[in-house]
Amino acid sequence: MEKVTEYFGSMVFDERVMKAMLSEKIYKSLKKTIDKGQPLQPDVADAVAAAMKDWAVEKGATHYTHWFQPMTGMTAEKHDSFISPAPDGRVIMEFSGKELIKGEPDASSFPSGGLRATFEARGYTAWDPTSYAFIKDGTLYIPTAFCSYGGEALDKKVPLLRSMEALNKQALRILKLLGTEASVVKSSVGPEQEYFLIPKELYDQREDLIMTGRTLFGSLPPKGQEMDDHYFGSIKPRVTEYMADLDKELWTLGILAKTKHNEVAPSQHELAPIYKTTNIAADHNQLTMEIMKKVALRHGLVCLLHEKPFKGVNGSGKHNNWSISTDKGENLLSPGKEPHENVRFLLFLTAVIKAVDEYQDLLRLSVATAGNDHRLGANEAPPAVISIFLGDELNAVVESLENDAPYEGTKKLVMKLGAEVLPELRKDSTDRNRTSPFAFTGNKFEFRMLGSSNSISCANIHLNAAVAESLRQFADVLENADDLDKAIHDLIKENLKAHKRIIFNGNGYDDSWIAEAEKRGLSNLRTTADCMPKICDPKNVEMLTRHGIFTEAEIFSRRDIMLDNYVKTVNIEAMTMLDMARTQILPAISAFAAGKASGIVSVQQAVPGAHCEYEKRIVERLSGITDEMDDAVNVLAEKDNKLKEIEDVMEQANFVRDEVIPAMDALRSLADEAEAMTAKESWPFPTYDKLLFGV
Ligand code: ADP
Ligand code: MG
Repeated sequence: MEKVTEYFGSMVFDERVMKAMLSEKIYKSLKKTIDKGQPLQPDVADAVAAAMKDWAVEKGATHYTHWFQPMTGMTAEKHDSFISPAPDGRVIMEFSGKELIKGEPDASSFPSGGLRATFEARGYTAWDPTSYAFIKDGTLYIPTAFCSYGGEALDKKVPLLRSMEALNKQALRILKLLGTEASVVKSSVGPEQEYFLIPKELYDQREDLIMTGRTLFGSLPPKGQEMDDHYFGSIKPRVTEYMADLDKELWTLGILAKTKHNEVAPSQHELAPIYKTTNIAADHNQLTMEIMKKVALRHGLVCLLHEKPFKGVNGSGKHNNWSISTDKGENLLSPGKEPHENVRFLLFLTAVIKAVDEYQDLLRLSVATAGNDHRLGANEAPPAVISIFLGDELNAVVESLENDAPYEGTKKLVMKLGAEVLPELRKDSTDRNRTSPFAFTGNKFEFRMLGSSNSISCANIHLNAAVAESLRQFADVLENADDLDKAIHDLIKENLKAHKRIIFNGNGYDDSWIAEAEKRGLSNLRTTADCMPKICDPKNVEMLTRHGIFTEAEIFSRRDIMLDNYVKTVNIEAMTMLDMARTQILPAISAFAAGKASGIVSVQQAVPGAHCEYEKRIVERLSGITDEMDDAVNVLAEKDNKLKEIEDVMEQANFVRDEVIPAMDALRSLADEAEAMTAKESWPFPTYDKLLFGV
């Protein structure tokens, strides 16, 4: 058995390899680019490229690829080999600094939302030296950003890096005022990833799973998750083998896979890595999702990353654990033990509270997809309303600050900033509420609205940007203050007062909360069609452009791309439903009912006077369902045709929400009713009981 410590990161061009393979001068210069964002010198690029190529070829790689994250939410790659012809007819392996730094994929078919005219389709990819290159399947992968020649971002990495820079810039202004030593501030993320595993041979029999990643038909098995016996339950041997294999692949690529366990639903599991700098965490999460699917196939399984693969069963999300820290290793969201650390914590805490309140809509839409719409607001996931959970103790602290009142906690003390030490927050006091969409958990915030298939980039772009904006406003005030302590005190107090409506420590799944949230004026944007247009609201455009996260054109193009994605996703689902209903379900029900009908005739021939009431009732209802289903199929087909006639993407999205999805629901409920009355062996594809308990 190989030791983990020996193979961990063995396919990564990391610090160890850089140090060993680069001259000291080149290494130092590259480090400056990586750590401080200084521009890369051409001679450094050439030297790094040569070292990367030698290292990769030594490990058996023949190709390289610029790996990027277009706005489809997936990753893209185009492979080029290192070979270059030599005069004697042989080949040599070559890779230049130019090839490392810049690539030109033929990218005309990636969505750009009108940013890039097709005649100048060749956007370019640019190396992101802050994320290590790695080898996978014989190819050297170079993490890159993807831009148009006009400089517009065509991907999710560019705005993420810009948002990290904005946060860095504004946080440093605050830290300078507070006397905290730091030259860089970065956000870090640990994303907990949920997924389902089902047997491949069952998956292959369901057109809906193959085409859309979720079941479009199906009724609940007699045993669902009501027994709560799966969560943290013992892991089945086949799943254990899968997880071990997965860990090994992830570790080889330097991904810090740490925790694995069963989740709430049958066949549902979770994997959490140790947190990393946000852009690396984003790259790693993309890789993790891809490798999860790949490894599953080797075990005869399929990994479903859809947010809602099964109706009525817990969906899959991704918890985005987020914090900000300095290059000196200080976590700015850690309450700390010293008064000056407390003040800093409370200031950053207030900045986050203000940011989440003012940009609820941006956070909501950062996780919006057709898939996640099934989850948010259903009663096992956070509601579509955003609120912050602080825990009882921190909440009491916040209340006392807001009112200049004595803090009535474990120890009675007057909260006077900079004078008294915060009471130590017990971990369990912050970690109890699992129903909050945005919870403070000791020294980080956990944003729980992300869908399992979401790229984490979008959520973190908007979170970093919104917090940068709070810090900017704070710094503007504090930099001009005569009495800094008083100014900090007043700033915290005013902002807590102004934004306390976003704080909610109760049960986020409770219906009464939704009513209460609406009373508080919090937004409740239920679907992608509802929330996506908000990105273009003047206040959002103003903030995002001010910090250089997006240009105005980029914002409008992203809205269109996300809406188009929503419309296309639902449209594929509708077409798949039509096909399954027409060619599989209706014929199956009708054949089964016909069989029962001839059964009645035979029985009555054999036993004159037999009532056959059971058979008659079934035949009658199934025959009714086939007629109703046929109507429902025609209605849905008609809606789908109408959709094709609409040109404006916003109108398309509204039509999908108001007309297409309800027509799909109507068709499904008829089929699901029929499924419950039809013999299992006569149903045309595997049912929920087999899918959920088949591994
Ligand atoms: P849970 O109770 O939700 O499982 P954990 O403490 O185990 O919470 O952490 C879950 C995730 O949060 C892990 O990915 C972990 O690495 C990450 N995490 C822990 N501390 C931080 C931090 N300071 N910043 C960002 N992520 C963190
Ligand atoms: Mg969690």
